[in-house]
Amino acid sequence: MHTRKPDWLKVRLRGAEKLTEVKEMLKRLSLHTVCEEANCPNIIECFGRKTATFMILGRICTRNCTFCNVTKGHVQAVDPEEPSHVAQAVKELNLKHVVITSVTRDDLPDGGAGHFARVIEQIKELNKKIVIEVLIPDFQGEYEALAKVVRAKPEIINHNVETVPRLYPAVRPKALYQRSLELLKNVKEMDDSILTKSGIMLGLGEEEQEVIHVLHDLREVDCDLVTIGQYLAPSSKHHPVVEYIHPEIFERYKELGMEMGFKYVASSPLVRSSYHAEQVSELMIR
Ligand code: SF4
Ligand code: SF4
Repeated sequence: MHTRKPDWLKVRLRGAEKLTEVKEMLKRLSLHTVCEEANCPNIIECFGRKTATFMILGRICTRNCTFCNVTKGHVQAVDPEEPSHVAQAVKELNLKHVVITSVTRDDLPDGGAGHFARVIEQIKELNKKIVIEVLIPDFQGEYEALAKVVRAKPEIINHNVETVPRLYPAVRPKALYQRSLELLKNVKEMDDSILTKSGIMLGLGEEEQEVIHVLHDLREVDCDLVTIGQYLAPSSKHHPVVEYIHPEIFERYKELGMEMGFKYVASSPLVRSSYHAEQVSELMIR
């Protein structure tokens, strides 16, 4: 196991003054971001550029992924004001591309899909030109729950497979690799005008051939966009970083992914699911 971070993972500290401003607004509107909850290394840069990934449906997750810093345990009631508060924040931050994700709410009958749809609708009411990207849970494979989100017509539906199937029991013990692929396939079958996106983290103990296999599987279900980034353990209690993958290998996956037919591949150590997401929309949608 490697413990010292290599130089390519050290982040620049530009834009720190905007950090407090954005944090205060989020507090005033009782909103959460995955940026804060997941201790994302890009927070200063992203908040500095006034972009954020909203995390709806509370801060507590019903799953127990071993790489994730989100609090697990007893869930909170869903805030009915949240959809309008997210729209308000999008307005205040003047966002052109918004990313919305959530904890996984296996306790709710529709897994929170209806709430996702309401958030999308509120943002569309504000301004139809805003590109909406939702990073959704698997809704336990419930077709009708997924259909609620699809009918709300976000521009991009993202669902991360996170790692190679062999590591699921250790990394995503309550998820199923095939179920995640199926979700991406179903989105395309329901509405092929929606772009699909997925992502994996490297450094969890996967082999190169396994990563390539995942990329093939994603293309098989017609996934359009993929993100590949380095896993960083939030604490010593989380899944360890087994390896720091060299930037050149990330570059190779990028080239390979583009050859396979993905419309966009973001692959480098600091890439996160939502990192520079707006650049993708500039390339793909506008
Ligand atoms: Fe937030 Fe995504 Fe930026 Fe991280 S990369 S700070 S999660 S918007
Ligand atoms: Fe974290 Fe998502 Fe796993 Fe919940 S389902 S523990 S939020 S990665």
